[in-house]
Amino acid sequence: MRDRIFAELKPRVEKLTRSHRPPGLAMILVGNDPGSEIYVRIKSKTCAELGMYGEQIHRPESITTGDLLGIIEGLNQRAEIDGILVQTPLPPQVDKNRVLRAVSPDKDVDGFHPLNVGALVENLPGPRACTPLGILEMLRRYDVPIAGRHAVVVGRSDIVGKPMALLLLHANATVTICHSKTVNLAEECRRADILVAAIGRAHLITRDFIKPGAVIVDVGMNRNPDGKLAGDVNPEDAKAMASAYTPVPGGVGPLTIATLMSNTVDIAEQHLCSG
Ligand code: NDP
Repeated sequence: MRDRIFAELKPRVEKLTRSHRPPGLAMILVGNDPGSEIYVRIKSKTCAELGMYGEQIHRPESITTGDLLGIIEGLNQRAEIDGILVQTPLPPQVDKNRVLRAVSPDKDVDGFHPLNVGALVENLPGPRACTPLGILEMLRRYDVPIAGRHAVVVGRSDIVGKPMALLLLHANATVTICHSKTVNLAEECRRADILVAAIGRAHLITRDFIKPGAVIVDVGMNRNPDGKLAGDVNPEDAKAMASAYTPVPGGVGPLTIATLMSNTVDIAEQHLCSG
């Protein structure tokens, strides 16, 4: 799936590069969180692989909100930068909301700016959060029927759960959103034709949460004590019960990066080819 998306993106990148310049993505990394460092490194490498311009900006853990706002303001002004990504988590002294809202809405590759969230709610054009958008694209490419199906999204975060539920709703699913206060989570999940787990609890979703034949999307990326990556869904139970499921590692992680690249190319085309 990732390879197919890249194969479709490459000619678009080449066309932009020939006629104007390569699409440009700036990635701001703060501190030395090992996970964040890996993600930014993979994103940079992927930019290079596709012939895009990737710029890493690495600042120490002690950075202030004001300094970060200054960096973003500079990037907002630079014509060769189409997308700006602020890698989270940010250190506690930084006002994350102020920082994310400082990214110009037309360079907001992650779709986190309130204007773009509003566009999502109203189903108007605009960049969408990468993980949920990638999941929707995957369901479509695998011909998973969505309209009229019951989708259950476990998790209500601004970056995964909420945008996922809205995208499924716009695709005419009947959507249930579950969270940590949901009573009878297993019972809710068992009603799902499409179950999206975006919880952050290793293997919380087991056999008794799964309707036979359901399609399961496992967003979770949890580190076990042995350092291994585990999803939110027990893989043996998913294999036994579901008609299709996404594995961890693999599955949704690489898809999210592919969608980030695709969002950057979309925005670059709007910047360079409009009018
Ligand atoms: P958050 O911690 O922001 O949100 C987790 C959600 O799960 C919350 O809504 C929380 O409910 C809910 N939740 C927590 N515990 C339970 C429980 N026992 N029962 C039901 N619901 C529960 O996480 P994110 O949305 O940012 O990420 C979720 C997972 O997805 C993480 O493992 C993360 O690493 C991974 N992820 C993977 C990506 C990828 O590319 N593959 C991208 C982004 C995230 P409440 O709101 O009530 O607290």
